[in-house]
Amino acid sequence: MTTINLTCFRCGICCARYDVPVRLDEAARLAEFKKVNIKTWLAEYCNPAWPGVRYILLKRVDGRCPFLSNQSEDGTRSCQVHAMRPRACRDWQAGVDKTDCLHGLQELFRLSIDNLGQLIGSQSDIDQFEEALDDFSK
Ligand code: SF4
Ligand code: SF4
Repeated sequence: MTTINLTCFRCGICCARYDVPVRLDEAARLAEFKKVNIKTWLAEYCNPAWPGVRYILLKRVDGRCPFLSNQSEDGTRSCQVHAMRPRACRDWQAGVDKTDCLHGLQELFRLSIDNLGQLIGSQSDIDQFEEALDDFSK
């Protein structure tokens, strides 16, 4: 059995589940990254929560953040603005205490975690998951 320190394995579930607050300075950096005018960027991607101060990212019709990629062949997704992602996303850490991560672990790798922090599943699924984590850490 393996006791796990769960790091993000890019299931993308959290990026499809929560509203993402964006401060105006973060929006300005994201607009610059996309090489568009800030007003255009705000109109395309945000709901004004407190206009001029703080915004909420609009979601796609399926609930995903507009910057979450489509699913790749191995089932993972990635943030297309990773280097510029808002503070709320930077502060979010994967962990065994997050139901989103546990949901993703089951969905992508058919694994669960017991209350001692040990992976539960077939050895081949555990191996596959650990290889994926190794790849992400490179
Ligand atoms: S900005 Fe990136 S990290 Fe944040 S919710 Fe969207 S896809 Fe996820
Ligand atoms: S739910 Fe957890 S593992 Fe999945 S993308 Fe979010 S932080 Fe990463």
